Amino acid sequence: MNRQARAVIDFAALQHNFQRVKQLAPSSRIMAVIKADAYGHGMLQVAQALHQADAFAVAQLAEARTLRDAGIDKPLLVFQGFNNLHELEQMAQLDIMPVVHQDWQAGLIEASALSLSIWLKVNTGMGRLGIQPQDVVGIWQRLAAKSSIQLMGLMSHFANADVPTHESNQQQIDCFNQLAEQLGTRTSMANSAGLIAFPEAQGDWVRPGIMLYGASPIAGRSAASLDLRPVMQLGSRLIAINQLKAGECLGYGHLWSCPEDMPVGLVAIGYGDGYPRHATTGTPVSIGGRMVTLLGRVSMDMIAIDLRGVDSVKPGDEVILWGKVPAVDDVAECADTIAYELLCNAGKCRHNHPDSE
Ligand SMILES: *Cc1c(COP(=O)(O)O)cnc(C)c1O
Repeated sequence: MNRQARAVIDFAALQHNFQRVKQLAPSSRIMAVIKADAYGHGMLQVAQALHQADAFAVAQLAEARTLRDAGIDKPLLVFQGFNNLHELEQMAQLDIMPVVHQDWQAGLIEASALSLSIWLKVNTGMGRLGIQPQDVVGIWQRLAAKSSIQLMGLMSHFANADVPTHESNQQQIDCFNQLAEQLGTRTSMANSAGLIAFPEAQGDWVRPGIMLYGASPIAGRSAASLDLRPVMQLGSRLIAINQLKAGECLGYGHLWSCPEDMPVGLVAIGYGDGYPRHATTGTPVSIGGRMVTLLGRVSMDMIAIDLRGVDSVKPGDEVILWGKVPAVDDVAECADTIAYELLCNAGKCRHNHPDSE
């Protein structure tokens, strides 16, 4: 593992972003989403820092078990629910709430005597996990008839909340509200983008993920304009400066050819460290407080940067791949992906941070 690349986590920024969720959704309870190792930020450390959260949500039982083993005693929700009776039994034992999103899961709960709190998930248009709308009321009533089961509420998930003008958003909200009214239950519909773009859909519980980590959930809007602060800073070091001649080519595939004699810096970070291989020439990089750009193809443990006009830097200097500047959203755009992916992948550099060793 590359010893120079390091992802530093700013817990004060995390707490600031949590307060932003509270300001934006003042009447909802907050289920902080910390799946995928808290989007690369470290699940346990993030859970400990977010002590004001009303609950935590993860994708799978194993993550929830890790939280319980570490002494986290908040309500825990598992988005993927359970895969078999054994997992359901563990959830009952550890007081972990499954999301019930399949008919057979409801059947397994009905047939058991386990004491459980559960959320029922309806597919309102995401087409991923969720009971079909026409089946929800029947399943709900069967589960409600069991005194060992506490039905916490009805939940659903947006497919296009990051594009607020997309017509599917309102269709999903309408479908969801109709069922929630019929059942007269508590609700949870909104992820980060949903709670910002559709305050009327915030319901009883919001489920923010990406905004807690300081990236923008809304396409075309910067995190800074939403008063969100970056939590992860990915940095590394300059390891070499080469003077290349006009016409000389650089890196795998020779994607960059020098238009003039020019200095090129090599930075110790690459796709092996979670920096996106698809980042293109022009992707912003910060060195010594100056913005420069990536040149050519990203290697496994190195990138090249354009040092024309930057003569005050030397090997050993710190390079920032994302953080305050450049924003992770801007890097993601240059790599034709989303900040979620970059943050998750760079999580592996966290253990290189001296404070976490
Ligand atoms: C991941 C996830 C969230 C959080 O989404 P963000 O876009 O990161 O806010 C909320 N709800 C469900 C069901 C999820 O899978």
